[in-house]
Amino acid sequence: MELMSEEREAPYFTMTIDGKPVDTPAYFEIRNPSNGELVGNAPECTTEHFDAAVACAGKAFKSWSLLPDSELEAYCSAVSSKIAEHAEELAELLTKEQGKPLNGLGSRWEIGGAVAWAQYTSGLSLPMKVLQDNNEGRIELRRKPIGVVGSITPWNFPVMIAVWHVLPALRTGNTVVIKPSPHTPLSTLRLVEIANTVLPPGVLNCVSSSDTKANIGAAMSAHPEIGKIVFTGSCATGKRVMQSSAETMKRLTLELGGNDAGIVLPDVDPVAIAEGLFWGGFINNGQTCAAMKRLYVHEAVYEQVCEALVEFAGEIPLGDGMDEASVLGPVQNQMQFDKVSSLVEDAKRKGRVLIGGEPGEGLFYPPTIIADLSNEDPLVHEEQFGPALPIIKYQDVEQAIALANSSENGLGGSVWSNDIEQAKSIASKMECGSVWINKHGAIQPNAPFGGVKQSGLGVEFGEEGLAEYTNIQVVFA
Ligand code: NAD
Repeated sequence: MELMSEEREAPYFTMTIDGKPVDTPAYFEIRNPSNGELVGNAPECTTEHFDAAVACAGKAFKSWSLLPDSELEAYCSAVSSKIAEHAEELAELLTKEQGKPLNGLGSRWEIGGAVAWAQYTSGLSLPMKVLQDNNEGRIELRRKPIGVVGSITPWNFPVMIAVWHVLPALRTGNTVVIKPSPHTPLSTLRLVEIANTVLPPGVLNCVSSSDTKANIGAAMSAHPEIGKIVFTGSCATGKRVMQSSAETMKRLTLELGGNDAGIVLPDVDPVAIAEGLFWGGFINNGQTCAAMKRLYVHEAVYEQVCEALVEFAGEIPLGDGMDEASVLGPVQNQMQFDKVSSLVEDAKRKGRVLIGGEPGEGLFYPPTIIADLSNEDPLVHEEQFGPALPIIKYQDVEQAIALANSSENGLGGSVWSNDIEQAKSIASKMECGSVWINKHGAIQPNAPFGGVKQSGLGVEFGEEGLAEYTNIQVVFA
């Protein structure tokens, strides 16, 4: 068969083990969700390669974990500078494999975020605490690295989430083996290659797998030489990670799915909040764990909020991620596209389509807003993880809080009001890890982020997030 010229030229990416590029006997193709073109070939990790990566990380841990804090900081800061140096290259690769546009809240924004997180995390530290120092004795609380950390990432923000996992692990003296999603491995393979130009060999290793031949994520969760798993992905897989890591009592940070609610109070200016509401729901095409996935609006402003949202949504340019004019791109993969399509088809029979509602070409799905739904409808109670927002009308704010809380998930939530004190009091009744007022999904490297209920275990970011990569040792002198 004659290959198209770009297919002949599509690069073969390598894994990084012990600081060296590693080829594998088999590769799998990664295609651009915007146009189906072959972007590159990702290595299919064998069990032997995986075991070798863990062994190298274990060997590197012996010296890395003994480095003084200032050296760990300097190495992490050097990684951050290297990512910044390669920002445009990484952004283009990310757009080609993930689909998100270069612009808007797309890949340049994601790489910028990765650099900001890496830089901030480099500057954090967890100094020893003296708990008691008197004539009865001295008690010191020390934070020690855990060992080899296994990182498993999803396909929605592959580079930023890799940085969220890797930097705090390295900063606290652990070594890492990372396994990106089979949908978006290329930008992570390249990221790790770049980071390895300034790191000692074996400290940061990367393997990739299509999940069809060997399930490396499952092998990672069970591996006896791995001390901690940091996992970002779906609730279902998170539960499997928990099960398979139980035997070796691994430390776990699980950032799982969400079904975040937004509650709009009757005192808002609908036009003023439309932009924030839209991006709260449609950031990264809705493929964001803490995107607003259901919107409860008070009956007094219901029609005006619907109208203002639709007007804003209608102006968003959707197109090929590499087109500088695109602000939203395609859905990342067929499985997610089919999920969104079927939830919308069902919701169309029960609610009122305000905009969108019909699939576009290929993997393109226009921003879709459907009003007049209720908590019983699957688009409301399941995680759509795509560009479709359901709106539900309510009469009484206590009823809206109860509806928002009636979910197995508890990642984020938002309250929209001009009365900040009332919004804060509603926030305290919401069962979720983060609550935003007059915005949704804004995260920062200095504020811990994590889910309650089935949205996860533990937090990332800030000192609290950093502490999750350590064991406490108390020394009584
Ligand atoms: P997924 O659970 O399908 O896959 C996540 C990762 O797990 C992939 O790397 C996959 O290869 C790996 N994996 C597959 N089987 C495994 C197993 N048995 N053991 C260990 N690892 C295994 O999730 P996804 O589809 O890539 O991502 C979408 C989901 O992730 C959504 O539910 C979303 O809400 C959630 N998410 C959460 C956050 C957060 O911070 N809370 C962030 C991004 C995405």
